[in-house]
Amino acid sequence: MPIYEYACRSCSQRFELLIRGTSAQPACPECKSTDLEKLLSLPSVKSESTHARALGAAKKRDAKQAYEKVNTQREYEAHHDD
Ligand SMILES: [Zn+2]
Repeated sequence: MPIYEYACRSCSQRFELLIRGTSAQPACPECKSTDLEKLLSLPSVKSESTHARALGAAKKRDAKQAYEKVNTQREYEAHHDD
């Protein structure tokens, strides 16, 4: 069975789901939203270490993006506070 990685458009939660058939509608485990973006399919035969490394890299990337997002927001507020 294929495993898909999704990102929730409502709360930005990322998670992997095992898809059983095409009729099941995946939902976010955090907010139960079904407004999801399919990111990529992970080969189910991938080794644990490779998978862990990929997840670690993704988490670092997400943290960086979140940090930049906060900074952009602060900058915006700083320049629109008059
Ligand atoms: Zn969500």
